[in-house]
Amino acid sequence: MIVDYHMHLRGPEERLAFSLEGVERFVARAAERGVDEIGFTEHVYYFEQTRQLWDRQYQLERCKHDLDEYVHAVVESKRRGMPVKLGLEVDYVPGRERELRDLLEPYPWDYLLGSVHWIEGHSVDSSPESGLWADLPVEEVWRRYFIALRGAARSGLFDVLSHPDLVKIFGMRPAPEKIALHHEETADAIEASGVAVEVSTAGLRKPVGELYPDPDFLEACRARGITITTASDAHVPELVGEDFDRALELARGAGYETVTVFEGRVSREEPLG
Ligand SMILES: [Zn+2]
Ligand SMILES: [Zn+2]
Repeated sequence: MIVDYHMHLRGPEERLAFSLEGVERFVARAAERGVDEIGFTEHVYYFEQTRQLWDRQYQLERCKHDLDEYVHAVVESKRRGMPVKLGLEVDYVPGRERELRDLLEPYPWDYLLGSVHWIEGHSVDSSPESGLWADLPVEEVWRRYFIALRGAARSGLFDVLSHPDLVKIFGMRPAPEKIALHHEETADAIEASGVAVEVSTAGLRKPVGELYPDPDFLEACRARGITITTASDAHVPELVGEDFDRALELARGAGYETVTVFEGRVSREEPLG
């Protein structure tokens, strides 16, 4: 089975399109590419209902859409027999776990992705000259990123960690032995938390030009019995299933033979590919 469990429901010109027609465009592309099931995972900060969690201009500017409308578009598509799942890409905000849980609790999620894009309000992935990178040495950015990711795993809020080593996005890395330590320590935390990790092709389209996560990190996950999903992080239908031959190759190379499928936040394993 092939799943693409990370994409953003957008219409022409990448505008939000929370409608059946919006969903259908992604479903059609999935069928063309032999992807059996797709999951929508809009950013949590796009929704008015989550406004209380945000303080950054970037988030507040986007925080104006109706979560019910998004959920309805996906749930209704599912009811009509389309191979879609309802998810959300949720930024992990330390200290706000209970609030986040209460806000998201009423909705019929199939799974929730946990992401680290910001640390204490500073961006990890917007530019190599700003955000965290402007103020801290590379080593320290990496250290803080993985602390936050382990926090996301332990929070119990999420089913899958998205783009698990997003911090490498600009190709700036500390010494290999430091990286190895982050991978091991984080894989331990993920194992203890029982969440899955995402094998994402999005990094191939970023400056680093690599899949997330690194083969070593994925092998550390495999050694601990951590399960995986596969993902494109598409913001346009054309990118659904993009470079999935590479994702499957990475997963198999790390020893994976199954992929995790979610329904109503209950997971099961299916043969990979
Ligand atoms: Zn993301
Ligand atoms: Zn995303």
